[in-house]
Amino acid sequence: MNLEDKLFLDRYIVDDEAHIKIIDPGLCALCDRKQCLYTCPAQCYKLEEKKVVFSYEGCLECGTCRIICDEKKNIEWNYPRGGFGISYKYG
Ligand code: SF4
Repeated sequence: MNLEDKLFLDRYIVDDEAHIKIIDPGLCALCDRKQCLYTCPAQCYKLEEKKVVFSYEGCLECGTCRIICDEKKNIEWNYPRGGFGISYKYG
């Protein structure tokens, strides 16, 4: 089973309020490594027209981006509000 198949098993109740935010998008342009692009297992961070863009809807709540953004410390990270977020079918 590949990663996409495994992610398809998960269920989300998506909040209309983002639980993770890029604090200052301009700072991401100054980040040399842009680790978020390569470490988020759900690929919530993408590079579009040389800008890091983030979408929280598919977040697995793993906390990787909270730790890996150590160069600019530019991520405001919270769990989703109660009743929202991911439900793992297995695990
Ligand atoms: Fe991606 Fe994990 Fe950060 Fe969610 S918490 S955006 S899944 S790295």
